[in-house]
Amino acid sequence: MKKLFPLSLKQKKLTTLLFLILAVILLCLTFFLFKGTEEGYQITTYSMGSYVQQTVYGNNREEAAAGAAQAVDALDRLISWRVEGSDIQRLNAHAGEDFISIDPTTWEILQDSLSVCEKSGGAFDITIAPLSQLWRFDETPHLPEDSMIQSLLSQVDHRVLSLPEEYEAALQKSGFAIDLGAVGKGAACDAIIKVYEEQGVDRAVAAVGGSVGFWGQKPFGTPWKVTVRDPDSPGGLGILSLHRGFVSTSGSYERSFVDEETGKTYHHLLDPKTGYPAETHLVSVTVLSNKGSLSDALSTACFVLGMEESVFLLREFQADAVFVTDSKEVYLTEGLEESFELTSSGYQLGGVVS
Ligand code: ADP
Ligand code: MG
Repeated sequence: MKKLFPLSLKQKKLTTLLFLILAVILLCLTFFLFKGTEEGYQITTYSMGSYVQQTVYGNNREEAAAGAAQAVDALDRLISWRVEGSDIQRLNAHAGEDFISIDPTTWEILQDSLSVCEKSGGAFDITIAPLSQLWRFDETPHLPEDSMIQSLLSQVDHRVLSLPEEYEAALQKSGFAIDLGAVGKGAACDAIIKVYEEQGVDRAVAAVGGSVGFWGQKPFGTPWKVTVRDPDSPGGLGILSLHRGFVSTSGSYERSFVDEETGKTYHHLLDPKTGYPAETHLVSVTVLSNKGSLSDALSTACFVLGMEESVFLLREFQADAVFVTDSKEVYLTEGLEESFELTSSGYQLGGVVS
C-alpha cells in the first residue's frame, strides 16, 4: 500500500528522537508528581508544655521525626527553669555568684534573647522570672498584690546577665532569675530543623505551640501555608504563604483569666516596666524571621512594645510581622504585603506599617 505521507530516513530519525524526548519528559513529570503527592509522615508528641506536631516527607521520615522529637525533649532539659540540673536552673541557683559553664545551644539562645532584650529597650526581658512566677500563668493564674508586683520590679533587668565568653554565663546579682518561656518553642523549632538537615529530609513542617518552622521546598514552587489564628473563634483570620523561615505568634488570648474582684482580663505577656500585662491595643503579633528563637522572642517583644515601636525592632532583625489589634484590624510590615491573605470577614486590613 502506498503511504500518504512517505517519511524520509532523516524525518524518521527526528520523529523517534522527538518521541524519546517526550517519554523522558513524561517520566520526569511522573517522578515529580509522585514525590509531590507522597504521603507525609505525621506525628504529634508533647514537650515544653505544648504539642509538637511534625509532618515529614522523604525516605527516612519516621527516623528523622523521632530524632526531632527527642531533640525537643533534650532542649527542654537544658533550658527549662523547672528542670533540676538544667542550664537555666543552675544559672538561676547561682545568681550573684561566679560564672558557670553551659551548653553551647543554651549559650546561643541566651545571646539571641539578650540581643532582643537590648534592642527592644527592655520591653522584652528574659529576667522576667520573678514576675512571671508571681502571676503563675502556667499553673494557677491570679492577680497578685500590687505591693508584691512593685517590690519585684527591681528584680527584672537583663543587664545582670553576662555572657563574656563561649560558653560561660552568670546572673551577676542575687534575686534575679531567667525564664525562657518566650523563646523556648521557637528555639525548639530550630532544634527540629537541624535534625531534618542532618538526616537529609526532603521537606517538612514542624509546629511547637505557637511557633512553626519549615524545611525544604514544596514541589512546583507551592508555598507553605500558615494560618493566623482568629483570637475570637477556633478558625483562622488569614493565611500566610511562605517559602522559608520561622513563624511565631504571641497572643493575649493564649493564657488569660478574669479576676472576679476587678472584673478585668489579665494575660501572660507582661510589661517589665509595670509588672502588669502589656496594654498596647494588640491581641496578637505573628513574626516571620530566619531563626526560630528570634521569631519567638520578637513576637513577645513586639506585643509588649506595641505596633509603631515594633517596626524599628523588626527591621534590626530583618523580620516581618502581622499585627492584630483589639479593634479587629490587621496591619502588616512591608515584607508580608504579598504573602498575607485575609480570610475572615470579621477583620479589616488596616494597611502597611512603616
Ligand atoms: P507562649 O508561651 O504562649 O507561646 P510567648 O512566646 O509570647 O507565648 O511567651 C510568653 C511567656 O514569656 C510568658 O508565659 C512568660 O513566661 C514570658 N514573658 C512574659 N512577658 C515577657 C516579657 N516582657 N519578656 C520576656 N518574656 C516574657
Ligand atoms: Mg514568644
